Amino acid sequence: MAWDFETDDDFARELDWVDEFVREEVEPVDLVVDDPWDVRDALRNELIVPLQQQVKDRKLWACHLGPELGGPGYGQVKLGLINEILGRSLAAPIVFGCQAPDSGNAEILAHFGTAEQKQRWLKPLLNGDIVSCFSMTEPQGGADPSVFTTSAHLDGDSWIINGDKWFASTAHAAAFFIVMAVTDTNANSYQRHSMFVVPADTPGIELIRNVDGHHGYLRYNDVRVPADHILGGQGEAFVVAQTRLGGGRIHHAMRTVGLARLHFDLMCRRTLSRHTAGETLADKQLVQEAIAESWCELESFRLMVLQTAWKIDKYGDYKRVRGDISAVKAMMPRVLRNIASRALQIHGSIGISDEMPFMDAVRDSYTLALADGPTEVHLTNLARTLLRQYQPDDDVFPDYHTPRRRERAAEKFSGLLARYGVTL
Ligand SMILES: Cc1cc2nc3c(=O)[nH]c(=O)nc-3n(C[C@H](O)[C@H](O)[C@H](O)COP(=O)(O)OP(=O)(O)OC[C@H]3O[C@@H](n4cnc5c(N)ncnc54)[C@H](O)[C@@H]3O)c2cc1C
Repeated sequence: MAWDFETDDDFARELDWVDEFVREEVEPVDLVVDDPWDVRDALRNELIVPLQQQVKDRKLWACHLGPELGGPGYGQVKLGLINEILGRSLAAPIVFGCQAPDSGNAEILAHFGTAEQKQRWLKPLLNGDIVSCFSMTEPQGGADPSVFTTSAHLDGDSWIINGDKWFASTAHAAAFFIVMAVTDTNANSYQRHSMFVVPADTPGIELIRNVDGHHGYLRYNDVRVPADHILGGQGEAFVVAQTRLGGGRIHHAMRTVGLARLHFDLMCRRTLSRHTAGETLADKQLVQEAIAESWCELESFRLMVLQTAWKIDKYGDYKRVRGDISAVKAMMPRVLRNIASRALQIHGSIGISDEMPFMDAVRDSYTLALADGPTEVHLTNLARTLLRQYQPDDDVFPDYHTPRRRERAAEKFSGLLARYGVTL
């Protein structure tokens, strides 16, 4: 029987270091560097690369990875505790070498890349020298893969890729793309697609525009890559994609705990500082309700995230925790939105202005409800997973119907009931 919510002393010291380092060294960078993913930006490099080196020296670099890939192999629970701190800052995941989408793309290359691909992309990616892009969603739909039309066909010893992709984050700075394309139009919707690694300098890749400055609307025009640039087998794109999505989703959730906590802290500070109608906001019961509700939501979400992380460590198999990850994924936007919205409201006019972080967090919450699959799809997956544990009842009055339960109880305790003269 081991239920332990404590952090060991050595690791607690590391967390203290991370907390202070992020507060003092990384959070200020967020105000200077617009795009921490843009490895071509000299100012970004001057500020971020030395910080990355400090993290490497401290042996906290790429904490999502096991030692076989150069990480410390802390496991997901400890990663969760670190990510909670990193979630406060946009640049922090980059400074610690565990940012999306690169963490997931690295997992794909580690599992499915050739030795040469690992040397060419995985190594510099893990070192933070390059960034990458995951290119799956298409303009006509992202939640339903059966509508994807970007295709790849073999031509001699090359694959030729054609089609449009949408909302491909960090495409503008990426050294390579992981691209999903239809390779067999006759197969069912989950075996029609294959995954490819495509170098960013391959002729034919067109960046139509950068949506919101970060998300590429891409067109692949007869993009030719060598035959061995397929990742996994033909028709196995979904198997490959699952390698990255499970980890990616839980890591976002870990960081969201930190972002939500930041907004909770700011809300509490404001309620104690602001006076109105003769008392502080903290004295008002409706404000107290906002604080108490926020704390309950934050703490229950955090426990859910950490327990899911613990299950990943225990089982070492994302498939076994698919339901848990869907639940966490669905809760994540709700918790952040609720807490950031209350923090915004309690700050009044300054709260809604761009001089405070609350509107950004509310917007982020909508992002979290879409990226890596919409909330509705995850809730549906969760419900299906849960319902697989149950059987339909074959009687119109199921065995939990009180008269039937009473009947069984009467039988079980018949001797005793007879002695006391009790009839059920
Ligand atoms: C910030 C951000 C970053 C992203 N980064 C990437 C990236 O790097 N690479 C990439 O490939 N994609 C990326 N995406 C795309 C993301 O994966 C898609 O937005 C997502 O899969 C939904 O697809 P869609 O936007 O086309 O919405 P649609 O598929 O059109 O769905 C729209 C809405 O319909 C509803 N809906 C859809 N399906 C169901 C259902 N089964 N049941 C009930 N309701 C449903 C939901 O409300 C959903 O939000 C990113 C998205 C965002 C917002």
